[in-house]
Amino acid sequence: MARKEYTVEQRGVGKPDYSSNVTEIKRGETLVLFEPRPDERQKIFYVSHPLASPLAVGETVHLMDRETNLATPYTSPIGFLASQRERFFSFNGAIRFTLTVDTLEPVVLFPSADNLMGSYESIAAIDTKYWDPEASFGHTWDMTITNVDTIPLSGMAQVALIFTEIGSSVMTEKRVRCLKCGNIMTVPLKQTRIECSECGYDFVVPFFGKEII
Ligand SMILES: [Zn+2]
Repeated sequence: MARKEYTVEQRGVGKPDYSSNVTEIKRGETLVLFEPRPDERQKIFYVSHPLASPLAVGETVHLMDRETNLATPYTSPIGFLASQRERFFSFNGAIRFTLTVDTLEPVVLFPSADNLMGSYESIAAIDTKYWDPEASFGHTWDMTITNVDTIPLSGMAQVALIFTEIGSSVMTEKRVRCLKCGNIMTVPLKQTRIECSECGYDFVVPFFGKEII
């Protein structure tokens, strides 16, 4: 391509000040900062209440593992450091989120109603490296949402953990739960299309790579 040169009139001196224009975190920057590195992998836990199946007043639900549909408490495996890095909530009313890791005091949050409240943590307080740096033990992660409003609520919540592998393990199968009937099946690790062996429900589960942990 032919190169053209243009003359641009210079106004003022010094570097341009864009600070007043920054109103959002650009998606690209978020990805660069928080995407898993080669020795890391992600796990996503979520709960979803569409309008057709709202969360009842006073009801508490446990977030589920995206890759298996198994409900928390989840036990993170020996050989991996686990860190809570990202979470978001969007419900059309008042909820309480509780994260309990091992015997630490729980994290209790009251995300504001109707908003999409997201948080990315580059300084992660909840990181097993601070009490088990050799990853010698499994760790228990329990995550719940409670409807503390006076009406049934719709919305969803998601929590992401990042795992750093410092041991080694080999896995070829995974356990997956059918959301229709609760049947738990053992299927090949990379299988994402599942037909329930109990009720025939045909569903998908994402696979985030490497192995389910
Ligand atoms: Zn089923």
